[in-house]
This record gives sequence, C-alpha cells and structure tokens, in this order.
Amino acid sequence: MADYLETEWSSAATAARRERYYAASQKKFVPFKEPLVFKKGSMQYLWDVEGKKYIDLLGMNVCISVGHSHPKVVAAAMAQAQELTHCTTMFYHPTPAHFAEELAATMPKGQEWVVHFTNSGSEAIDLAMVMARTYTGNLDLLALRTAYHGPTSAAQSITGIAGFRHPGMPGHVAFVAEPNQYRGIFGPGTDPYLDEIERTISSATTGKVAGIFVESVQGYGGIVEMPKGYMSGAAERVRAAGGLYIADEVQSGFGRTGDHMWAFESDGVVPDIVVMAKGIGNGFPLGAVVARKAIGDVMAEKFMFHTYGANPTSCAAGRAVLKVIAEEKTQENSRQVGAALLERLKDLQQRHKVIGDVRGRGLMLAIEMVKDRKSKEPDADVTAAVFESCRGQGLVLSKSGPNRSVLRMVPPMCLSLQDVDKVADGLDRAFTEAAA
Ligand code: PMP
Repeated sequence: MADYLETEWSSAATAARRERYYAASQKKFVPFKEPLVFKKGSMQYLWDVEGKKYIDLLGMNVCISVGHSHPKVVAAAMAQAQELTHCTTMFYHPTPAHFAEELAATMPKGQEWVVHFTNSGSEAIDLAMVMARTYTGNLDLLALRTAYHGPTSAAQSITGIAGFRHPGMPGHVAFVAEPNQYRGIFGPGTDPYLDEIERTISSATTGKVAGIFVESVQGYGGIVEMPKGYMSGAAERVRAAGGLYIADEVQSGFGRTGDHMWAFESDGVVPDIVVMAKGIGNGFPLGAVVARKAIGDVMAEKFMFHTYGANPTSCAAGRAVLKVIAEEKTQENSRQVGAALLERLKDLQQRHKVIGDVRGRGLMLAIEMVKDRKSKEPDADVTAAVFESCRGQGLVLSKSGPNRSVLRMVPPMCLSLQDVDKVADGLDRAFTEAAA
C-alpha cells in the first residue's frame, strides 16, 4: 500500500515537478532558499526527506495544534473515514452535530451560540462578513492595518498587508491603525487607537457599520497583541455605530495563548461572531463560524452551502482535538512552556543588538529585527539570514510581519521545556552566524 501511488521522494524531483506544474500563485510562497521536503511528523517534530530532525516552531502555519499526526486525532479521523468519508450537510450525521455542541460549550456563557462549519479559515471569514452585513443591514466594515484574514476575494478585502492583496478586491472596507505597542503610529497605549476607530467611522463610512474584524493576536502581522482594553473598547464603539464585533481566532485560538481557550477572553469582550480554523482540525481541513444565535438566524432566508462543510472525517479530527486539549492540558502547557521560551528570547535580546523587540503570549511568540534600536527601522535582511541559519540548527519558524522582519513562533502546543533549551541555543547560534 505504501508505494501504491509510486511517489518519487527526492528533493530534486519534487522541486522539478513543482516548478513545472504548479501555478505561479501556488509556488511563490516559499520560505527557504533551497527546497525543504518533509517526510514525517510526530508531535512537535518534523523529519525531512534526508532524515534530518527539526523542531517545528511554525506548526505548519499554526494548523498543528496538538502535535503532528497525533495518534488520537489520526485514529478518530481514520475510523470515521473508513466508515463514511463524507456526508454532505443536506443529510444528518452525529459527528458534526456533536462537534457543534462541543464548540459552542467553549464560548462565553450567557449567550446561545450556533455553528456553521466551513473548509477553511477564509471561507469562514467570508461567511462572517455576509452574516454581519445581513444582520445589521450595513455595508461598511472595519479592519486593522497589518491584519491577515485569508486569500479569498472577500477575506483579502479586509486584509491590511499589501503583499497579500490582489487587484479587484471588493470595497466598503475602512482600515484603522493596528494598536502595535512597539511600532504603532500612535505609540504605546490603547486610547489613541480607539479614537482612531471613532474618527474612521465618522469619516470613512456612512456612519453605520456592519462590524469590525480583529485578530485577537495578529498572526501574519507579526504577533501583534491587542493592548488591554482595545478589544472591548473597539466592540463598544463599533456597536454604537450599529455594527458587530468579530473575533478572528484562526491563529490565536484553542488555548494557544495559554491563559484562555480564546484570546479575546483576555479582554473580557464577548464577540458577536468568532471565526476559527487551522488548529481546529490539527491539519485536517476545517473552519467554523460560531455566532450568537440571533445573528446566525438571519441566514435562514437563503441557502449557504459549503460542499465539504461539516465533513465528518474533519469533524471527527476536530472532536479529538478538543478532547486532547482537555486530557493533555495543552493550554496549560502553552502557558508554561511559552513563558519559559519568552524568558529565553528576552535573554537573547540582551545579547544580540539586532533584536528590537520580543513579544507574545503562550506559544504565540515573536522576535522583531531592527537595523537600529532607536529608529526601529525593520531589518528584513538579517531576519532572512537568521531564518536560513535556523534551518541548519534544526528549527523551522516563519518570517512574518508587513516588513518580513519578524520571526514568528507558533509551534504545536506540546512543545516541551527540553525543546525550549534547544530552540534558544539554536537561535543564539543562528544570530551569531548571521552577524558574522
Ligand atoms: N485568519 C487568520 C488570522 C489567518 O492567519 C488565516 C490563514 N493564515 C486565515 C484567516 C485564513 O485561513 P485559511 O488559510 O484556512 O483560509
């Protein structure tokens, strides 16, 4: 069975096939200079085709929440796939129904929550946009600069990083400055960024809005945390203009930030809609919109049908993920191991002057590189050099941020304290190498 598909595994052959047969849109997004072909994953580790082992600090773009090929998640999905791989939502199946109940139970109490399963994060974002506009009857949306919400046309229209935006995106979106406490345009603090929301509503919209989308911690934007009071203050201002507060938890959810299951909880805000994906399926394709029931109900008038939405194989994986998070205390592990790693990153900052900032919470961490600590001019070249050296040290991470000057760390939440030593030592050597 293993070679049923007759796969040629060499790096050169894979690179040649990609080069010849992938469209430019699919082959552009490549991190390392030389191809890296992965063959195997187990929990927080990856092995390439030559057998070299890596600590996966990127978690395959935050999809691997509880560990690569986690045996319990794989077993749940395989059992379902063997019984019935797909069951369209026109027909009833207990697995997604159970999963909807279990997801709703993770939401803040005091509301009735309903769930719509999609295949990806951007589909869930699209749906949340439609829900917000339908429910409020308003068209204008607010989003944050340096936000990333996905590649579909609608999700791109609320994405605030030029490199991810293509021509012809739909409009009716106004962007507000992200409250970046390291390099935000109004400096540190919360209030100036909330004032900016009010100003934008009164100058760049009809005065009535459908809602605001906020990543509770910005991911591709370079791990930008929302300062205390921002999420709740934004919700208040947007609701005063008739809009909804929509939390994008695609990267920050499922306990990754350590203190909470959902990163919006750190500010006490209760969103109207929560969008989730990636870690929800531990690598199986899945996304979901969880909305207050009254908001979900406005969609009763028309059909909204995602062919693979509520696919039982992915939902079986999702149910297993929630169970593993509880059984293996991965949120607590994210908190503890993340705190230890952050300490080590702060220590690196003392010793490497290219590091302008280290930040983050739980296992959502970042190092930002600058040419000069005073001017804070982003240093994409050093970031790229450190990133390449990390590969040699057996570390996979991500170059992020609008200036590609941030190393983002979002590993599987089973990262251990022993790994922290290896990560910190590897980074230390990579910074030394890059400076040489
Ligand atoms: N929102 C955020 C915060 C994301 O990081 C992403 C994906 N990187 C998306 C939405 C879109 O998800 P997907 O790629 O599954 O469509």
